[in-house]
Amino acid sequence: MGFGTMLMLAVSIAIGLMFLLAMYGEEEGPGIVNALFRFFFFRFPEWFRGMIKAILGERVLAGFDYTLNYVFNECNPLVQIFYMVILLGSYVIFVRDAYTNIPNDYAAGYHKFLGLGVFYVCLSSFAATSFMDPGIITARNALGLCNYYEYDEAIFSNPNAICETCQTRKPARSKHDSRCNVCVARFDHHCIWVNNTVGLRNHRYFLLFLLSNCLITAYGAFLGATVMLHKIDESNLMKATFIDMKTGERVSASWTVVVRYLFAQNGMLSVVLCLCTGMCPILFGFFGWHIFIAAQGTTTNERDKWKQVSYYLKKLKKEGKEVPDVRNVYDKGVLSNLREVLFPPDVDQFIANTMDKPSTKRRKDKRT
Ligand SMILES: [Zn+2]
Repeated sequence: MGFGTMLMLAVSIAIGLMFLLAMYGEEEGPGIVNALFRFFFFRFPEWFRGMIKAILGERVLAGFDYTLNYVFNECNPLVQIFYMVILLGSYVIFVRDAYTNIPNDYAAGYHKFLGLGVFYVCLSSFAATSFMDPGIITARNALGLCNYYEYDEAIFSNPNAICETCQTRKPARSKHDSRCNVCVARFDHHCIWVNNTVGLRNHRYFLLFLLSNCLITAYGAFLGATVMLHKIDESNLMKATFIDMKTGERVSASWTVVVRYLFAQNGMLSVVLCLCTGMCPILFGFFGWHIFIAAQGTTTNERDKWKQVSYYLKKLKKEGKEVPDVRNVYDKGVLSNLREVLFPPDVDQFIANTMDKPSTKRRKDKRT
């Protein structure tokens, strides 16, 4: 396996593990996951900054901090461009190096067109999630949205709250996205891959974006493997004798030797194959996680809020005080919760028939 291939595989696994840590880790709390979270997200960055300051000086450290802040905390297209380069580059390599070996004994010719179809879904769901209005709250729709989602008196309790930046009312389940500088209805999270907020209107496209990336990596791994198997059969590699370039020794074929030979002969395709194989299970993990959250009638943002509520309730219990009975009022059952995400209400419907009064009523009469 070449150095580039190993590096690509290591980087993709590391990115995936960092995402998993960011999702599951907590700043406080016991266990190996939380300890790793604290190490990678607090101690290591602090140590690294200290090293930069000690070796390169304060000005370089300021530049480093500014760059990190710009890439990860401000609205910018850098990560979007990075994704497009990886996706387009991988597909071009695949068309050049793999499509020329399809059909083969393991994959029929129609896979070329099916692959193109999945690639198209990747691109279009990426564009839809990136560029469409995620459900921006305006002065015209704010009151309607306030009436649509009830205030649960647990994680959303102030029907009169006003966003200081947007100067609009803050409906339950909404949040101000400081990167995009807008308040968004049923806010889920800000996604740096699409450089946009994921909210009421584009949540379903975000799920499709995740699913299409799961499929394209699974498909890439499968088709790449069929091409490699085809090359083994075509050149009868399992019966060949190889010469070790370093020692000059003659080596008989084994799976390890053949795989190393194939990777050396098909460098770029091997990198794409490893990238797909490494990222596929991680992406399926993300997709499953987001479907699980949606099925529970909650959002990434609300899960964070519930963590705080749970911490507070535990504290009350410890102190022997009365613990209030709180539950997720937005959970209407798995099917209804998924329907809410996949077929969201039209934000424009909230512009008409809005009443200038906050409501804590259920929304049952507001959908028509
Ligand atoms: Zn706002």
